[in-house]
Amino acid sequence: MDGNPNKLYTSPMTTLDQTPITQLRGIGAKMRDKLARVGIATIQDVLFHLPLRYMDRTRISPIAGLQGNTEVVIEGEIRGTDVVFGRRRSLICKVQDNTGLITLRFFHFTAAQRNNLTSGARIRCYGEVRRGGAGLELYHPEYELLGEQSSKPLAQNLTPVYPASEGLTQYRLRTIAEQALALLNDANLEELLPNELLSIEGSTSRSNTQQQTSLAEALRFLHQPPASAAVELLAEGLHPAQQRLALEELLAHHLSLQQLRQQIRQHQGPAFAAHTELRGALLKHLPFELTGAQQRVCEEIAQDIAQPVPMLRLLQGDVGSGKTVVAALASLQAIGSGYQAAVMAPTEILAEQHRLNFEAWFTPLDITVVWLTGKLKGKAREVQLERIANGSAQLIVGTHALFQDDVIFHKLGLTVIDEQHRFGVHQRLALREKGPASEPSHQRSVPHQLIMTATPIPRTLAMSVYADLDFSVIDELPAGRTPVNTVAIADQRREEVVQRIRGACGEGNQAYWVCTLIEESETLEAQAAEVTASELALLLPELRIGLVHGRLKPKEKIQVMAAFKAGELDLLVATTVIEVGVDVPNASLMVIENPERLGLAQLHQLRGRVGRGSIASHCVLLYSMPLSQRAKERITVMRQTNDGFVIAEKDLALRGPGEVLGTRQTGELNLRIADLERDAHLLEQVKATASALMTHHPSKVAPIIRRWLGNKERYGQV
Ligand code: ADP
Ligand code: MG
Repeated sequence: MDGNPNKLYTSPMTTLDQTPITQLRGIGAKMRDKLARVGIATIQDVLFHLPLRYMDRTRISPIAGLQGNTEVVIEGEIRGTDVVFGRRRSLICKVQDNTGLITLRFFHFTAAQRNNLTSGARIRCYGEVRRGGAGLELYHPEYELLGEQSSKPLAQNLTPVYPASEGLTQYRLRTIAEQALALLNDANLEELLPNELLSIEGSTSRSNTQQQTSLAEALRFLHQPPASAAVELLAEGLHPAQQRLALEELLAHHLSLQQLRQQIRQHQGPAFAAHTELRGALLKHLPFELTGAQQRVCEEIAQDIAQPVPMLRLLQGDVGSGKTVVAALASLQAIGSGYQAAVMAPTEILAEQHRLNFEAWFTPLDITVVWLTGKLKGKAREVQLERIANGSAQLIVGTHALFQDDVIFHKLGLTVIDEQHRFGVHQRLALREKGPASEPSHQRSVPHQLIMTATPIPRTLAMSVYADLDFSVIDELPAGRTPVNTVAIADQRREEVVQRIRGACGEGNQAYWVCTLIEESETLEAQAAEVTASELALLLPELRIGLVHGRLKPKEKIQVMAAFKAGELDLLVATTVIEVGVDVPNASLMVIENPERLGLAQLHQLRGRVGRGSIASHCVLLYSMPLSQRAKERITVMRQTNDGFVIAEKDLALRGPGEVLGTRQTGELNLRIADLERDAHLLEQVKATASALMTHHPSKVAPIIRRWLGNKERYGQV
């Protein structure tokens, strides 16, 4: 780097998160925009933009001792440069030191480059050694011609390789990082973790020492590690310096969720007394008894919403475990106290199904159920909005249309969000704000919130992603369910599968045939389903076959589903639109075509559509060869177990948390350094550190959150 970095100046009062990168030398508007694209706007961002890996350029290797697949620095004299025309035209350059000779090979080169590599010149090269046609070669090395001064200093530290993008060279990123490090001091990047909370427990047996690393030390180390650094730990992200940063970042997220929770719990919530008459009336009409697990979670919820503090509860229960009736009982408690309850589903089909359930259960109790979805327009919509606003609607079922600004509730006391993995934190917050409009905003009470999901989340992950929630789990299926028997059959035996459908439907049962997602295209998927439906119609002329896919109008979808539910169709050909929540107990056979395209969670959701009655149910995974190793493993898991929690654990092991939780959740976490999977062992410590901070150092909480999360809207809103 040219010049003295210390001549750069920032006011001692300005912290690095407030200092724009344009303060650094050589950064104009163009470079600023390029850096913005990799998320760098301030000097602090530069420091948090950590290397992906490192190269060792601290020593020169003798050419004779080189081995394949290693990164090296060599230095020698050019012995000749030629363009050769082999399979690919390339420029080769022979370099010799006093131990041996090696070839540099360039596939892309300029005439000027060729002319510069003159025989006799001294050259230093950085690159990876490969075994090529002419023995060991360096492909496309970085190089410097040394000219007369034969001893240019080598790097003192490992050389960082940064995440880059179009127009940002490694050289540029390195000089920017060097300048940023030169500015770093204790005043402008304050250590926020108190000493006693600083020690990171060794993350692996290899680093089993207690380390006290400050933030600034960790950053300096990671941008410029000494040549002696433990490169293996660094490569795995498990070096104490990396773990130090990961801990603080996870801590920031945990604290922000905790704070969110505290802020919400400072609000008033409506307290609902238990309403035994309504409850008894509903239970009397049900054709079944609640399971023990249902009773337990109903009790947990009933106690929560009897308190004047807003409930925030995540209800986990496998597909078919009976979450809907739990939601209904909670809603009754709100309605019995004169409040409204809203039940929100992720799709129109599911919203419609909830409407049918709730109407059947609540109309006999004289409770008015209305519904609101995005497709409801014009006059019809206005009528519903009016009923919601004037309070004549007591239970409101809908899709995310319930979030819209013009939906004003008369007196909303409880929101139930079904299948929450499809909704993000933002949407959850939006509904929290829809408390009773009749009260002035400063004393407006916040509705209770129950979030239901059939995608079980392993406990440690749940703790960090949903640290703002309490948990209830339905860990028992209603009695009398026979587990679904799952088989895998190759597509060559399709004919047999068609005969199975004929057999099942011939005995008065119903069946699904699911066509899976093709390249994320709803249109292609719909076409495939249409083709399959007409093929099956030819093969099974005696059956009544329906078709449902994402390209149908919502009304059409709902009509087909209703016909299937009423038993007017024998076979339903569907795309994955039926994945969530659809409930037709008489359906006992499901064929899933190309199951290899789906993840475990989705397969489990789909399969959960059968096995809802007392008849033995079957699921046929009709796969196409060849299967990838991963696909084989998934199919094996599906054949072995029906337990959603076991499947969730396997899913986590096979795919990692990012994919298990969906990009929405992990995307919202927006982790820069930490990795939920790699750093799962830190989560307990994160939790303990968070509560110690909140108790003993409350003034540090906001700055830590601000450092890692900025002033994101999400946290300001509440
Ligand atoms: P999920 O948890 O997947 O949303 P549902 O609420 O849709 O499950 O319930 C699945 C089916 O089980 C429904 O037909 C429902 O009426 C029925 N069900 C719920 N609870 C019980 C129970 N305790 N005993 C028998 N059947 C039940
Ligand atoms: Mg459900």
